[in-house]
Amino acid sequence: MSVQPHQRADIAIQKHREIPKSNLIPFQKSKLEFHLIRFSATTKHHSLSSKPESWNLLIREYSQSRTPKDSILLFHQLLIDGFFVPNHLTFPSLFDACRRIRAIEEGRQLHSQAIKVGLNADVFVQRALVRLYARCGCCDDASRVFDRCPDPGIVSQNDLISGYLRIGEMRYARRVFDGMDEKNVVSWSVMVDGYAKNGEVEIAQELFNEMPERNSFSWNSIMGGYLRCGCVEEARHLFDRMPERDVVTWTVMISGYAQNCLFREALETFLQMQIAGLEPNRITLVSVLPAIAQLGALTQGRWIHAYIDKRGIELDGVLGSALVDMYSKCGCIEEALDVFEKLTWKELSSWNSIIGGLAAHGLGKDALHVFSRMREDSSMVPNDITFVGVLSACSHAGLVEEGRMAFNLLTDFYKMAPNVRHYGCMVDLLGRAGHLEEARELIENMPVESNSVIWKTLLGACRIHKNVELAEHISRVATEMGDQDSGFYALVSNIFSEAGRLNDAGKMRRKMNDLKVKKVAGCSSVEVGGVVHEFLMGGENFHAESEAICSMVDEMERRMGQGGYRTNASKVSICAGQEEERPRMGHHSEKLAIAFGLIKTSRRTPIRVMKNLRVCDDCHTATKLISKIYDREIIVRDQSRFHRFKNGTCSCADYW
Ligand code: ZN
Ligand code: ZN
Repeated sequence: MSVQPHQRADIAIQKHREIPKSNLIPFQKSKLEFHLIRFSATTKHHSLSSKPESWNLLIREYSQSRTPKDSILLFHQLLIDGFFVPNHLTFPSLFDACRRIRAIEEGRQLHSQAIKVGLNADVFVQRALVRLYARCGCCDDASRVFDRCPDPGIVSQNDLISGYLRIGEMRYARRVFDGMDEKNVVSWSVMVDGYAKNGEVEIAQELFNEMPERNSFSWNSIMGGYLRCGCVEEARHLFDRMPERDVVTWTVMISGYAQNCLFREALETFLQMQIAGLEPNRITLVSVLPAIAQLGALTQGRWIHAYIDKRGIELDGVLGSALVDMYSKCGCIEEALDVFEKLTWKELSSWNSIIGGLAAHGLGKDALHVFSRMREDSSMVPNDITFVGVLSACSHAGLVEEGRMAFNLLTDFYKMAPNVRHYGCMVDLLGRAGHLEEARELIENMPVESNSVIWKTLLGACRIHKNVELAEHISRVATEMGDQDSGFYALVSNIFSEAGRLNDAGKMRRKMNDLKVKKVAGCSSVEVGGVVHEFLMGGENFHAESEAICSMVDEMERRMGQGGYRTNASKVSICAGQEEERPRMGHHSEKLAIAFGLIKTSRRTPIRVMKNLRVCDDCHTATKLISKIYDREIIVRDQSRFHRFKNGTCSCADYW
């Protein structure tokens, strides 16, 4: 025989699973060979050909082992040896093996062989084929076998339904489901889950209501369906009504809250879960960590890290990246780096997390260094998120040449199409460095549609470099585009007033007021004793300890005044994304949070403030002074980056 069948099987399997060559066990080296030698020797003496059940047992054993392809190789070898006649028990095992390694072409060839030897009408062969085709997404083939099967059984029906659901063919799945004489719990659950995952939560709910018997799987499915379409209240209602909540139930609820930006609720549910006596698993931790990161709830984050270590939970790429991201968003870039370096397997998301983290902390050079290390790893190909991290690292650190090189790398080397975020980073980088015309040309010539964010970025640069002409041009473009962003006009108004063109400034301000866009209230939070305290701008009784906080703010102002600091009211102007008004001197939300941190924490503890908007010039100057006067490290995360204030200076070097 010229073609070695085992080689053919190898090729077919490799093609469908894209297993790297090195991962394939060479035929000669596999455990199988020893069995073959043993069995061949036995055969020669005792003529095993009369006992096919021994071979069938071995084939089945291999099909269920960690190397299912060995069962196929054995089968082909036996055919070459010519003393084995397959029967109705042989093919189901072979089809199972193909299903497990998704070797659909090999499966088809075996199907033809089953037809040749007249075994295709056997019910066990047919059921195994339905499962193989359905699991591999070949639902037409599955359906053809299913239709010819005189007794497919509930399991095959469920297989076919699942197959259709997996490829989003709801109508066909429903047809099989409705045609079932007898439905067991599994069929109902699979259908409910399919509709919920497909976003058809109303139909899922209808079926759920009709279900004769509900299991926790279907409760979780319907809840997940509601969460996926943003109906958090409905999901919570189901959650509260559930007769039994398992780890999956809690995890679905936590991850749903986090995905709907309800971070506080996600964290609270996570704490309630532990009070209820359930142990979070890896997926629970991956779901809650982003919420913790957003809230800056460092104590909780550290607790999770300790929990992972204590339980010996493996830090895989996903969990590792979530942990890196949590530390960096909580302002602890050193700890983020530490976790990153200890990851045994660094996935793309891990590299992206640390590069983005270093960028936000203004550590541009370090971010670029990590990026070059990533490129040395031949198995890693950066994606669009990597480049957002790299380009923003350059823009936060003012690395113009490096930024240009990275942008060229993106387009020329990796042949990727830059998106509006990449262009935004470049505009920010060029604009702040004073290359205003180049930035403007970039926007006007970019192949993607511009948005108000990118123009606002350039406006910010116009303000820094006092380029009123370009600002006027941009404001005309924005008006033509029908821009409804009030922050945009606020910025133009500031540029006019700073240039002494008060009439024009007034015009812009009226335009801004006409828009009546609801402004986002400034909010800063600080974690003290494991509790995240939130502060809104100004107002009386904003906190249980508002009196103490106000007197602390007064003291801060007084001590800063002794150092020559005066709040320059005329200079306190509104900037895009900053807090808009000052009800009382010195009461922007981060000052309240810093005051609270100073009262409540010991001298050596850094104060970490999370802010939803950008830090204004005045607060930036004040925080620098406070860090010196009170000898405290103050880390502020604002809308766009981190500021680390220490001994009178900021890590951003006033470049933000
Ligand atoms: Zn401020
Ligand atoms: Zn700063």
